[in-house]
Amino acid sequence: MSTSSRPSSTVERDLRALLGADAVLPGTPAAYLSDETETRGLHGHAEAVCLPADAEQVASAVAWCYERGIPIVPRGGGTGYAGGAVPTEGGVVVALERMARVRSFDPLLWRIEVEAGVRTADLRRIVRESGLYFPPDPGAAEQSQIGGNVATNAGGPHAFKYGVTGAWVTGLEAVLAPGELVRIGGAIRKDVAGYDVKKLLIGSEGTLGVVTSVWLRLIPPPETSLPVVGFYRDIASGTAAIAAVLGNGIAAAALEYLDAGALDAARGSFPAPVPEAARFMVIAEADGSGNEAGRLQAELREALADGAETVRAPAFAGDVAALWRWREGVSIAVTAQRGGKVSEDIVVPLDRLAEAVERTLEIGARHGLATCSWGHAGDGNLHSTFMVDAHDAAELARAQAAAEELFALAVELGGSISGEHGTGWVKRGQLARQWSPRLLELHAAVKDAFDPKGLMNPGKKQ
Ligand SMILES: Cc1cc2nc3c(=O)[nH]c(=O)nc-3n(C[C@H](O)[C@H](O)[C@H](O)COP(=O)(O)OP(=O)(O)OC[C@H]3O[C@@H](n4cnc5c(N)ncnc54)[C@H](O)[C@@H]3O)c2cc1C
Repeated sequence: MSTSSRPSSTVERDLRALLGADAVLPGTPAAYLSDETETRGLHGHAEAVCLPADAEQVASAVAWCYERGIPIVPRGGGTGYAGGAVPTEGGVVVALERMARVRSFDPLLWRIEVEAGVRTADLRRIVRESGLYFPPDPGAAEQSQIGGNVATNAGGPHAFKYGVTGAWVTGLEAVLAPGELVRIGGAIRKDVAGYDVKKLLIGSEGTLGVVTSVWLRLIPPPETSLPVVGFYRDIASGTAAIAAVLGNGIAAAALEYLDAGALDAARGSFPAPVPEAARFMVIAEADGSGNEAGRLQAELREALADGAETVRAPAFAGDVAALWRWREGVSIAVTAQRGGKVSEDIVVPLDRLAEAVERTLEIGARHGLATCSWGHAGDGNLHSTFMVDAHDAAELARAQAAAEELFALAVELGGSISGEHGTGWVKRGQLARQWSPRLLELHAAVKDAFDPKGLMNPGKKQ
């Protein structure tokens, strides 16, 4: 039966009978119908929102929906920038927030298994209390969930040295269509049996199954983390400094940048004076043992000094924490400029970074939009952003047209339309820019093999 022929009250009532009253919300609260793309005006609609308490309830909900032809939209913390968790075609939102238990934790073996709904920041805190480190650090960590991080294969500043979320996943438990609970990998550090189905699920944005639990490997934390901040007059000198870090063989843990617009948006709250002439900023971080981090910080300082207005090297833990807190707030500061933003996540080869930063500004100017970019410079990953008033339909349309040009630019420069946020709903159709027809056919065949009825998060990652 199609969703449109089922009144939402019936879906809600039937799911409540199946899962129990506390597993289905009354009505469909707006908070479960949008994600960060709300700042560009995207909202969905749903027949019901369920909050399963365990993996068996997820399997029951998926089986019930699948049998009836009802779309299933997995939801983590709703911090995604691609509209992946927005129920654009209706259906049942399966929110994982109640599944937030640690299933097993073996600090002496550097491993943990957590349910999908554990928040990123909680996970990092739990392992830190036992002297361990989970490096992936996407922003919005207090809201995002490990299941969402796995489903988007999230990165973050320290992905430059430590890799993205998927690099830390040794096993997954997931519910696949038509409602079956499966486990792939586990508390093992290597596994080359069969095709890598685990990797297919990582980054699949809820379109192949619902992740219910994740096994992760951990490491001891670096003893010390010491950042260096450089301010530059222009894009050319800032990106030259970034290239100098790599060229000098300095193994930075993070290598970030902000262009003039992003810096202006957040300049007021920077925890130290920002030089008047600064139009570009680079943040690099050295980590390791006290000695190693100290040596690397000195090398970074030298590499970043060439062409800089000022270079700062905070040494006290409080100053380092304040710097990263500020960096996390950049996205919000940019949104605050005009109340909304269309913010993408293209990635380019590192030697094309300067060109990508400059041409982002040109694209925005051509469409009459306030524009800026910042991001994970070491990974060539830009958050190219058009600042908009989300209530202004004409401005939003111009920003959408500008985003299309941005995707074309990424492909022209030998990059990709998405380095972090995924395709979701907002980049639907864009994969064809960078993949051949044969690859697109394989992509569709994978989806079909996992989800023959096309009910797992329909309309996304296409
Ligand atoms: C301020 C800010 C900073 C950010 N910085 C970064 C960054 O540095 N790096 C980065 O990569 N991202 C970043 N993001 C984007 C976002 O936080 C990440 O993509 C995050 O991992 C999404 O997790 P979530 O739990 O909020 O997922 P949601 O937004 O709820 O969902 C994202 C996608 O995953 C699917 N999904 C969620 N949970 C599951 C599950 N259990 N099983 C199957 N599918 C699921 C959804 O259907 C959707 O397609 C940032 C976002 C904000 C707001």
